[in-house]
Amino acid sequence: MAESKGTEKVIIVGGGPAGYTAAIYAARAELEPLLFEGFEWGGQLQNTTDVENFPGFPEGIMGPEMMTKFREQAERFGTRFVTDDVEKLELSDGDLHRAVLGDETYEAHTVILAMGAEPRRLGIPGEMELTGRGVSTCGVCDGAFFKDRRTMVIGGGDSAMEDADFVSKFSSSLELVHRRDEFRASKIMQQRVEENPKITVRTPWIPEEFIAGDDGALAAVRLRKADNGEVEDFEVDGAFVAIGHIPRSELVTGQVDTDDGGYVKVEPGSTRTNLAGVFAVGDLVDHTYRQAVTAAGSGCQGALDSEWYLRDEGLGG
Ligand code: NAP
Repeated sequence: MAESKGTEKVIIVGGGPAGYTAAIYAARAELEPLLFEGFEWGGQLQNTTDVENFPGFPEGIMGPEMMTKFREQAERFGTRFVTDDVEKLELSDGDLHRAVLGDETYEAHTVILAMGAEPRRLGIPGEMELTGRGVSTCGVCDGAFFKDRRTMVIGGGDSAMEDADFVSKFSSSLELVHRRDEFRASKIMQQRVEENPKITVRTPWIPEEFIAGDDGALAAVRLRKADNGEVEDFEVDGAFVAIGHIPRSELVTGQVDTDDGGYVKVEPGSTRTNLAGVFAVGDLVDHTYRQAVTAAGSGCQGALDSEWYLRDEGLGG
């Protein structure tokens, strides 16, 4: 474990695209960032296969390899890593902030929160085993892998509508499955889906199991009709679970302002939270875009906001 040498200028919490990008910028600004990247560093991309939409990789790149490159770039400029999970954060308003891990307490003038979010899961049999083998939580990332195949999107919010619309561009057919007859999605996005000739809307059906075929990949989704209990194994090649995300804000709940969904609130157009010296970036603040490239851009903003704060406060930024 890294030794803390007095007060840090910047502590970054979170080892995904946002955290590593913040580290690259902070390190190049000679802020010597200390990055708590988590025991399972790499964030959501660590569980992804091909990434084809990150600029600069025209042939695509595997998610874990991309995160290794992010990490190496942060390391090259002097980022120090703690490959473990912070147990406690004690944030202040303009004073020193503390990160606690085991017996160690690390102090810093600024903290960049980059803990990300995780896709909400259905919690049904086969879901985790078949993730990456036909089950996905990201239509924008994986839709193109199902060209001319049968697909399903599960959910009734804007994410599900957006995924259905996007994935249907590639699929031969798409079932949109939702557990209720009413949708949470905005009227316009719902209408777009209803008017799409490739999409069939199925309500009120509840997914109960993802079933593998002989090749070990997804073959069918077991659905149960909510109103009469009818059960059907619906054959599909790809199923996209789009039932929302859960921001990983538990370390800071009750300390910084969060919205109803638990996302950390920042001043519009900046990464500043309600606490001076505490910045938040990436999926932890963003329930709309949630892409590696937008998270990386946000991490850059967090590092610059932190640098400017240190400079303005005369703390060596
Ligand atoms: P959301 O609005 O919370 O919708 C989640 C959907 O998943 C709901 O329909 C919910 O069903 C369903 N669901 C939740 N748990 C489930 C379970 N265990 N089994 C089956 N279904 C389940 O989440 P979201 O669609 O990700 O949207 C989040 C926010 O981002 C929203 O504010 C949305 O407007 C915004 N967003 C905007 C855009 C855009 O404007 N382009 C795109 C994406 C997201 P119930 O309705 O029955 O609870």
